[in-house]
Amino acid sequence: MRITAALLRAMPPVMKTFDYLVIGGGSGGIASARRAAEFGIKVGLVEHGRWGGTCVNVGCVPKKIMYNTAMHAEFIHEHKDYGFDVEVKKFDWSHVKHTRDAYIKRLNDIYASNLEKSGVEKLVGHATFTEDKCVEVNGNKYAAKHILIATGGRPSIPNVPGAEYGINSDGFFELEDLPKKVVIVGAGYIAVELAGIFNALGADTSILIRFDQVLRTFDEMISSFVTDAMEKAGVKVMRSAQVKSVTKKPDGTLTLDTTAGQMSEVNCLLWAIGRVPNTDNIGIEKLGVELDKQGHIKVDEYQDTSVSGIHALGDVCGKFLLTPVAIAAGRRLAHRLFDNKKGLKLDYSNIPTVVFAHPPVGTIGLTEVEAQQKYGSDKIKIYRTTFTPMYYALSEVKSKCSMKLVCVLPEEKIVGLHMVGQGCDEMLQGFAVAIKMGATKADFDNTVAIHPTSAEELVTMR
Ligand SMILES: Cc1cc2nc3c(=O)[nH]c(=O)nc-3n(C[C@H](O)[C@H](O)[C@H](O)COP(=O)(O)OP(=O)(O)OC[C@H]3O[C@@H](n4cnc5c(N)ncnc54)[C@H](O)[C@@H]3O)c2cc1C
Repeated sequence: MRITAALLRAMPPVMKTFDYLVIGGGSGGIASARRAAEFGIKVGLVEHGRWGGTCVNVGCVPKKIMYNTAMHAEFIHEHKDYGFDVEVKKFDWSHVKHTRDAYIKRLNDIYASNLEKSGVEKLVGHATFTEDKCVEVNGNKYAAKHILIATGGRPSIPNVPGAEYGINSDGFFELEDLPKKVVIVGAGYIAVELAGIFNALGADTSILIRFDQVLRTFDEMISSFVTDAMEKAGVKVMRSAQVKSVTKKPDGTLTLDTTAGQMSEVNCLLWAIGRVPNTDNIGIEKLGVELDKQGHIKVDEYQDTSVSGIHALGDVCGKFLLTPVAIAAGRRLAHRLFDNKKGLKLDYSNIPTVVFAHPPVGTIGLTEVEAQQKYGSDKIKIYRTTFTPMYYALSEVKSKCSMKLVCVLPEEKIVGLHMVGQGCDEMLQGFAVAIKMGATKADFDNTVAIHPTSAEELVTMR
């Protein structure tokens, strides 16, 4: 018998129950489901796309591979200064894309098999809530005492004529070739990272920003350094600019009409203007779960929503859109609900973060301005340094490194650390531990430096 959609609708739904039902097989959902399964309960996990979610498929992982690719391009320029006579015949974007895709496919399979090993039941399909607080997937109905919404988000596209001719960060990972001329719209970390990759690999790259600097929510030292470094590296920074419309010519190139003038013969327009939460197609309104104005799910400090038994975390809540944040919140929630760890919750203060710019940024804690607002200007002491890392000792093109410590008087507790320069991405994690533990400037000073490194500057600032 052929199963038609009409027949499926006519059939009574199969009702199955779980102790914990997770919607979204991304960073937060997988981490929470697998941890919960360790406590011997019945866990189901619904995913309508590829296992691993944004991070694995269209985020951190393929992005870092492309960043590494771009770093190779940069190192090649410096080879001759270190005595290597290297001739680069060509760069094959398509080769990197296909080996990258294969790597990610392996990760998808590993995620799926780890879920099986953990005893989590995988439900493949789109999940929607029903009025009676159950979840429907492929016509089947599931009930659970606890339901977690970890549906993440997706890139937003502006409402301007011709916007559909542009791609977003998901589309970046589908590009088969390096475009000749690229315009990226946006000033956040995704815009900065993708612009850096395109530029380093040889595309004519412009970034169109609404104000005068990128990364405006970061400490001023970081925003001005990164904006400046991008320009020095060859990215055209179009300030105070917004796209009014986009048209496509018969040859496939785009023309952008912007508030800063016309840009023509653009081969790739990439919108990186922010992300929207996946809350508009899951029937959440039927339950009365409270959302904020942008559609993010409102949760308390325990990841509980306004409806009892419904929890949410990760990007769908709109706070600290980072993989380790979703994972940490997911694991803690599993312990609290099923492992009797009553008060367990994620502390959202002092979350370290890196921007894979050129050079990379590492930052944790309060910006200088935030610290002034919180403690008062007279209670803040700033330490800063700018130097040329030894990596550039022999190279013709040099890049600086800038560091800043934001300390609160009188004991000079470090409440903010901001740095940008070669190696800052790998440097931050250890310092983040110290700051999370409440380190003071004296603790840093009492730590013997490692020489010659850039990191030693953090313990020798005066
Ligand atoms: C370009 C880019 C680069 C990034 N780089 C970094 C980085 O370097 N470091 C970092 O920490 N973070 C980075 N991030 C952010 C990181 O990817 C996210 O913070 C993280 O993936 C959030 O995890 P999540 O579990 O909340 O959501 P997601 O990982 O997005 O998972 C949500 C899952 O839910 C599924 N889903 C949605 N609705 C339904 C439904 N109704 N039914 C079934 N399934 C559904 C989706 O298919 C998806 O798989 C990056 C993001 C982007 C876009």
